[in-house]
Amino acid sequence: MKGLFFSVKRYSIHDGQGIRVTFFMKGCPLRCRWCHNPEGISPLPESVVQTNRIGTHKFSHVEEVGRYYSIDYILEILNKEKVFMNHSKGGVTFSGGEPMLQAEFLLEALKVCKEKGYHTAVDTSGYSSVENFKSIIPFTDLFLFDIKHLDDVKHIELTGASNKDILNNYLLLTNCEKDLYVRIPIIPGMNDDIDYLERLRNFLISTKTDSLKRINLLPFHKIGSSKYKKFNIPYNMEGKEPPGKVKMQELKEFFMETGIPVKIGG
Ligand code: SF4
Repeated sequence: MKGLFFSVKRYSIHDGQGIRVTFFMKGCPLRCRWCHNPEGISPLPESVVQTNRIGTHKFSHVEEVGRYYSIDYILEILNKEKVFMNHSKGGVTFSGGEPMLQAEFLLEALKVCKEKGYHTAVDTSGYSSVENFKSIIPFTDLFLFDIKHLDDVKHIELTGASNKDILNNYLLLTNCEKDLYVRIPIIPGMNDDIDYLERLRNFLISTKTDSLKRINLLPFHKIGSSKYKKFNIPYNMEGKEPPGKVKMQELKEFFMETGIPVKIGG
């Protein structure tokens, strides 16, 4: 059994506790307007033209995006980083794209990683069936779970998909006795007005359980914008600027009223 991945990040400190290895799985059913990983959207391997400049010279080559990894190969990578992970109480994170799109492979990978004693995390948009989530809960120590918008109509407008299953899965995970970090992208003009954020804060308070360990506020950034052209995907965020430091600090204090630790960034 193999899974399709578009990237692996060693020494990751933004995808859960400690030092981690993050595996980015290819394929996502959502189309978030601000997505900074367009290479993670297609569920198939892709060939793209990469152009680099040195001075006035341009050099182009074809780059293959997407590789199939076996679970043994994943273990090989983890084994090399074991010392750092153990010392820092880190582990392995499966991210994307949307890792739940390859639910069968993800389940097997998590099972084996747990058997080998690794702390396991899944970074998800929450968009999958409740059965898929139930199947991975026993083998997942930490869920990193995005809430992009609470209103279904707005969620469809911003991501192309309904949030009904997402919110149901969120409630499931608040009650499964596993750690949960909720991740809130802050996207200017799309989900950052104060009335909406107040509703979101109330939602987090009213659904809070001991599982909810952290709120991550993820400010919109433009780092992925140059990748869109390469993948022939229209970029929808032209002219949008990232929220400033002062605004993010104000939002941090605003969400701290939930009683849950808040961090700006991953
Ligand atoms: S869920 Fe994540 S990977 Fe998928 S489109 Fe949205 S931001 Fe991109």
